[in-house]
Order: sequence, then structure tokens, then C-alpha cells
Amino acid sequence: MKRLIALFIFCFAICSNSQAAQWVKLSDNNIEKIMLDKQSILQQDKYKRAWVKVEYKTPQKNPETIDKQYNLSKLLWFFDCSAQKSATSQVFQYFNSELVYSAGIDSKSAEFIEPVPETDMDIAMRYVCQAEKPKVAPIEQKPTTALTKAETQKPVPAKPETEKPADTKAVAVTAKAAVIKPVGNKKNDSKTHWTYEGKEGPENWAKLSPEFATCDVGRNQSPINIEDSIHAAIKALKAIQKFPAKDIFNNGHTVQINFKEGNMLALDNSAFQMKQVHFHAPSENTIHGKSFPLEAHFVHADSKGNLAVIGVMFTEGKANPALAKLWEQLPEAEGEPVVLKNRVMPSEFMPDNKSYYRFSGSLTTPPCSEGVRWLLMKNPITASKEQIDAFKKAVHHSNNRPVQALNGRVIIE
Ligand SMILES: [Zn+2]
Repeated sequence: MKRLIALFIFCFAICSNSQAAQWVKLSDNNIEKIMLDKQSILQQDKYKRAWVKVEYKTPQKNPETIDKQYNLSKLLWFFDCSAQKSATSQVFQYFNSELVYSAGIDSKSAEFIEPVPETDMDIAMRYVCQAEKPKVAPIEQKPTTALTKAETQKPVPAKPETEKPADTKAVAVTAKAAVIKPVGNKKNDSKTHWTYEGKEGPENWAKLSPEFATCDVGRNQSPINIEDSIHAAIKALKAIQKFPAKDIFNNGHTVQINFKEGNMLALDNSAFQMKQVHFHAPSENTIHGKSFPLEAHFVHADSKGNLAVIGVMFTEGKANPALAKLWEQLPEAEGEPVVLKNRVMPSEFMPDNKSYYRFSGSLTTPPCSEGVRWLLMKNPITASKEQIDAFKKAVHHSNNRPVQALNGRVIIE
């Protein structure tokens, strides 16, 4: 039963955000099983990339995290089909369902090497480079060879970049991971285009850029549905919200308002500076399964770059005076910030009763970075139908990421 639960959770982590994943078995022997997500194969500049997962029959050791073992690796590999070289861009290692190690590097900085024949990387490269006819160069191998060989093969002898025996395989993957930068706290890859629907929509964000991998493999993702919460001695919200809004702009994903410096949130003995407020329609978080027509996110950061977000729900009703002033300059199209004429305080779109739910989560947009402290106000405020519609019109589409699995997280109130 325990095993079943673990498997189920594992599937949640790996499968939930990638419904379209299509795992093809490349090799299965008494050491490991290598699978490749056919749907993840993508041509990116001169490279092809694909997600590969390796299930190990016995736990492996990672020198980076000596006390932790792992039995599953999820890897994002890049292949230069014309040069017959490959590189690791992302490594995630799990023990049962728990993420124990991750590291990543942009494909441009990754080291491309010629894989040792018949190793997992070599098998994967042959599969990917002939999955579709690459435009770059003709491939010598015949399509069927790789798979047939892989399936009938004896244990894979070594990882591409080392000549070590099979049981040091794990070390080989990690050794490479060690040279590359850890994942997380990374800046958004602003060049990668993403959307809220279609091929670049939420279920495919992780596939759009290695920088967005957390959107798929993260276990503390936002938004969430607030269902059960634990009553705790939660502190009253302590915030300074008396410095006015500065400018407004439409970034193509939302309408954002930047504020003058000085607005603060005191949390966990740290001071979080308020950076900006933006909106989502319909709401991203839900409360007891209920979605709201609009949600505001007050984004704060402390001096180390840790993030805290206050979420405020809107119900349809009386017009909101702060929105009335802001929407006078509501930007209908993507563009640069415009200085606001009216004076608007952040406190003007906060509820009077400031009781809240608290939980740990992530950014709700790529790169979906985790470690975000979420404070969701329990009491909604109102906005008129016209105000909500005006926002929707400016953004042209819904801009809410679907709710994500809790994965054992606790919500306190
Ligand atoms: Zn947001």
C-alpha cells in the first residue's frame, strides 16, 4: 500500500503538469530503466532537447548530498545532432517521491560531449536525432537500430563522460551536475514566450525553457485551493501601506502597478519591501473550491530576494474606488510604464478585516520559483462588473494558472 501511495505521489509530481507526456522505454536492465518523453522532444536553435528519466533498481549515492540516496533521475538533455554531441541541462534526483537534489544550466553554457557508445545518453541521442528528420544534418544510424539494441542490450557499462563501471553511474551524472549551477532563485528567462492557453500554456511551461523546469517538477507550486486549514497562533498582519502608486503598465500577462518605496510587510522577523501589485482574472487561488472574478497580488521581497505575496480576492459588487482611479489609465495594450495621475495607496485595496491564510508556494508564472510565502486574505473586497471586465479586456484572455497539488503542504490560519 505504501508503495502504491508513493507511486501515486510520484506520478503527481511527474505527470500532473505534463498530461501530454509520452514515455518511451529506451532500455531496461537489472541496473536501471531509461525512459524518454517523446512529447518533450523539441528543436531549440541548433539543438534538440528531451526529458529523460532513469529509474534505478537499487538506490544510488550522490556525493553532493552524501546523506541522501536517490532512485530516480529526471534529466533534460540537449543534443547537437549534426555534431553527435550531447549535454545535460537539468538534473533532478528523487528518492521515492521526494526531490533530494537538483541542478541546472542553460543549454548555451552546457558542455557538449560525444557520448560513449551504448550509454544511456548515446541511446537517447540516437532516438532523439531520428525521432524526426533533423534539418541540420543527415544521421547515419537507422531508426530501428537504437531501440532494438537498447531493448536486447546487457547492462549499460558506463556514463558517457566517465569510463567508470556501472555502479558509479550515479556519480557520473552528479559529477556533471556539480559543475552546473543549482536550480532556483533564478531570474525569469524573459526571452521565452509563454501564455495561458495552447502550446505555450501552463501545462507546457516547463517544456518551453530549462529555466521553467520547476513549473513541472516543483512540489510546492501555486496557486492552490484552500480547503482544510489549521488554526494556529498566527500573527496579525503587520504592514505599512502608506506610500502611493507610481506607475501602471501592461506586460502582456497582467496589468502591474509599481509603488513608491516604503511599503513594507513584517514577516518572520524580516522586512519585506512591497515591489508591485498585479491582478489575475479569474482568481488563481480558490477558497473551498470557489473561484473569484479577480485577485490582486501584492508582491514583496526581503533584502535576500525571498518573496512574500499578499493575495486579495474581489467579488462582484460595488465599484472599488482605488481601481476607479487606476483604471482611468488602464493600459489596453502591452507597453512601457505610464506615470499615474491619481494618488492611490495600497491600503485602498485591502480588506478592513485582515485575517488571512498562510502557506508556502511559488510564483504562479514561469519560472514558478518556490519558497514564496503566501498570505491570502480571507475577506474579499468588491469591484464592479465594469471594472472586472475592463481588466479582462486589457489582458485579452484569462490569466490564471490552474490550481496545483498541495503535496502535503499545510495551510494555517
Ligand atoms: Zn500573480
